Amino acid sequence: MRIYNTLTKTKEEFVPREDKKVKMFICGPTVYDYIHIGNARTFVFFDVVAKYLRHSGYNLEYIQNITDIDNKIIERAQKENVNSLEYAKKYTKIFKEDMKALGVTSPEYKNATDHIPEVVKQVQTLLDKGNAYVIENDGIYFDLSTFPDYGKLSGRTANMADDAVSRIDDSDKKRNRSDFALWKFSQEGDPSWPASFGDGRPGWHIEDTAITEKYFGPQYDLHGAGQDLIFPHHEAEIAQQESASGLKPFVKYWMHTGFLINKEKKMSKSLGNFLSLNEALKSYSPETIRFYFLSAHYRSPLDFSEEILKQSEAAVMRINEFRHKLNLLTSQVKNIDPKETAEILQKVREAMNDDFNTPEAIGTFFELIRQTNQKLENGQMAMTELTKIIDFFDKVLGIIPKSITFPPEIQTLIDQRELARESMDFTIADQLRSQIESLGYQIDDTIYGPLVKKKK
Ligand SMILES: [Zn+2]
Repeated sequence: MRIYNTLTKTKEEFVPREDKKVKMFICGPTVYDYIHIGNARTFVFFDVVAKYLRHSGYNLEYIQNITDIDNKIIERAQKENVNSLEYAKKYTKIFKEDMKALGVTSPEYKNATDHIPEVVKQVQTLLDKGNAYVIENDGIYFDLSTFPDYGKLSGRTANMADDAVSRIDDSDKKRNRSDFALWKFSQEGDPSWPASFGDGRPGWHIEDTAITEKYFGPQYDLHGAGQDLIFPHHEAEIAQQESASGLKPFVKYWMHTGFLINKEKKMSKSLGNFLSLNEALKSYSPETIRFYFLSAHYRSPLDFSEEILKQSEAAVMRINEFRHKLNLLTSQVKNIDPKETAEILQKVREAMNDDFNTPEAIGTFFELIRQTNQKLENGQMAMTELTKIIDFFDKVLGIIPKSITFPPEIQTLIDQRELARESMDFTIADQLRSQIESLGYQIDDTIYGPLVKKKK
């Protein structure tokens, strides 16, 4: 298996630190609102990575943190006049429900506020080793002049306009411009926890390393997130953990997902083109949303468009029809020559082993669906192997729909129209379209075939 490592900027053979054991950590959400659909892309992708690693025989421990203490949470809670910890609890619950609805079932979640003693311990270590310093009435900061490796992941050391930076790091008393906060001393109205160096709350970057050090130790295999977190967040994590333990590399493989973009612009809440996962789930099935994310390579930008979502919906419908047909034909199909179908599963695995190339894996699956329809009617398919393929796309990618059903007469008309289109008989195809529409359905033809829906 080969993985593109942001640290070395090359595809590398994946060799975990301890034979088949993999420890993976993915940056989770800051729970101050519903999560953005761009974050959902990252979480779905790493859900697939986790499921594929387990499918491939790795013994995986997968942790995702939940940032439930943060400036943004405190500000929102104050606006609504509620306790900020309660406010965070509400959105943590919504986040977990939305993830479950989307079929993201692989991570073990860890709240930042459940790991304050670990944070305090790490801050104390950095103070003791001279990597951190105190600014009176403000907080404890990391001294970047003590860490010459800063910038090795991103190739830079200075902030740029688009960076995900936190106001928590602002102070004109810092020793170096990019020094960041490890701990903020108590302020009126803020949640606060006890510490010998002064009561307060953790900075953003330190919660990740405090959590991973507790469960994984000072070094582990795989760390991922959206690419907007490379700088400064992941550079800060490296600085903290490698300084605290003196061991490097802190993480062996770094993986980052591309942006979801809208008309050439990065989608973000500040640009006003915000769409939450929660909203998306009201209009599209979880399988459609997962298919949409996975139909592009995880490192490429993905266009956010209704058009692509519609195509994904049609694709999921094709898969459903294919599976439905298989179920109907099971009793009649002879189990002959599994070789051809076994080769397809092999091709799918090869695509996944090449830096999780989900679009290629999906392409191979659709090639199979196209080729098999005729063979199935003749009862010439290897059922056991086909079932294995369906199972793979269900358990690992999560794109097999629970079930979409049409009344039998509609399904027959859809099938007849597809046959007519395949034999270029467009007059008949058009007649069938009118017939389907007159029965209260609408048809959109997409690259994956027709998307048929009941008219609203
Ligand atoms: Zn993080």
